[in-house]
Amino acid sequence: HLPTVAIVGRPNVGKSTLFNRLVGKKLALVDDRPGVTRDRREGDARLFDLEFRIVDTAGFEDEDPQSLPGRMRAQTEAAVADADVALFMVDSRAGIVPLDAEIGRWLRAGNTPVILAANKAEGRAGNDGVLEALELGFGDPVELSAEHGEGMVELFEALMPYI
Ligand code: GDP
Ligand code: MG
Repeated sequence: HLPTVAIVGRPNVGKSTLFNRLVGKKLALVDDRPGVTRDRREGDARLFDLEFRIVDTAGFEDEDPQSLPGRMRAQTEAAVADADVALFMVDSRAGIVPLDAEIGRWLRAGNTPVILAANKAEGRAGNDGVLEALELGFGDPVELSAEHGEGMVELFEALMPYI
């Protein structure tokens, strides 16, 4: 069976946009409103010659904002636990917010390897957020633009060891 990549992150960072780009079909709903990915979506993805299963998660959306466990839908927890690697996505334009740090702590407590991706990094707009992302403690983020298809070679290089 194909290796699995789970995309994880707070609402609106661009998880579904990347999912759609890698799957090549509009299987995931992209919307400006946070929380529109209502359940776990999976598809067969291709990035250059890498083929893998990809999961678009939404476990940090839509529940009690006061409690991380409240937001941690069982499906997201299971998707990350079952994945060969988690792609932890942050928004390099918005910068790092407390929920990103919480998700980072949660990922660190698990056993799934993590690749940090700083999305919305087209042009130079994302530079401050990219620096802030270093504080999450997952090393240099892969700088991406899911919407414009930038950073795909760097993403390929980061994923390759796990596929
Ligand atoms: P999700 O909630 O993490 O699944 O985020 P979505 O994929 O639904 O995207 C949320 C919003 O961010 C949408 O308006 C997207 O068009 C936008 N977006 C996604 N990727 C990028 C990107 O690379 N650059 C910019 N500027 N916007 C993006
Ligand atoms: Mg989504």
